[in-house]
Amino acid sequence: MKQQLENLKNEFIENITTIDSPEALENLEKNFLGKKGKLNDILKGIKDLSNDDKKIIWPEANKLKMFISEEVTNKKIAIQEAKYAKLEEDEKIDVTAEYPSNNKGHKHPISITSNLLEEIFISLGFRIEDGPQVEDETHNFDKLNIPDNHPARDVWDTFWVSDDINKNKEAGKKNLLRTHTSPVQIRTMLKWELPIKIIVPGRVFRYEQEDARHTCNFYQLEWLVVWKGVTFGDLKWTLDTAMKKLLWDSTEVRFRPSIFPFTEPSAEIDISCQLCKWSGKVKWENCKMCSATGWVELLWAWMVHPKVLKDAWVDPEEYSGFAFGMWIDRIAAQRFWVSSSRMFYQSKLKLNEQF
Ligand SMILES: [Zn+2]
Repeated sequence: MKQQLENLKNEFIENITTIDSPEALENLEKNFLGKKGKLNDILKGIKDLSNDDKKIIWPEANKLKMFISEEVTNKKIAIQEAKYAKLEEDEKIDVTAEYPSNNKGHKHPISITSNLLEEIFISLGFRIEDGPQVEDETHNFDKLNIPDNHPARDVWDTFWVSDDINKNKEAGKKNLLRTHTSPVQIRTMLKWELPIKIIVPGRVFRYEQEDARHTCNFYQLEWLVVWKGVTFGDLKWTLDTAMKKLLWDSTEVRFRPSIFPFTEPSAEIDISCQLCKWSGKVKWENCKMCSATGWVELLWAWMVHPKVLKDAWVDPEEYSGFAFGMWIDRIAAQRFWVSSSRMFYQSKLKLNEQF
């Protein structure tokens, strides 16, 4: 019987080497260790053995049983690993391979609008400046004449960087996601390269309730001129020219005096709503973009406060500055006749591919 067990072991070893699927392995196990399997078949004869022989055969049989079980488990793992290795090989992505399509995609409507604005302002003699999206309190608020406890800080609900990072920083150094592009004004003035004639396009962040005109992350374009003898009239002409170039010659621009706590004088600027006035897509009384007023608030403009100039080491007696900011998203909505600028952020290819 010992020889029979030995033969069975050899037979098993021979068989398992050819197995390459979980089903075949299961059958093999059943064939050798199952109730009606080969091992049990041999052990049927054990009852006829002497007690001394039984003491030898039982441990041998057990050893063989364990050997077969272990080999089956190892084989199971090996089959699984081979399967994953093959999958990995079959599904390997070659990032350098050519994509079999002519569809190369295109710029997002907000990028298209931003690039157009950049071109228009460059043609008017401006240069582009950029700044960090994670700002500190000093550049985002303090140096813009918005000290702590100023109501303007409440108007712009701010995303602060996590307490873990901010808790050990002194006042003014605490980090936040910039609420406007104006910190770049300060950074540019501090470079002391006068005169200044810049635009600052970029992404800004506010903790806002989202609706047709508001999103918590949006794009602004800011414009700053610091020069001798510049006036609000210069600002008005530049803006009017830029808007007509960007939209249509018939676009009307309306200035409304306004109070911003940190600038003076200031104006809010509306343009005639392209969506309900010209597109024919939306009826005036249903237009959410202009709330059925026919005018959309797209920009705001201000003379730079003398204190802001002084804080940036610019002499307000000699130089004056004026600036405006605009919502690129809202301008894109007006330009492309989209009823809500929020739709630009919803990754809707059907929408974006139209432009
Ligand atoms: Zn409208």
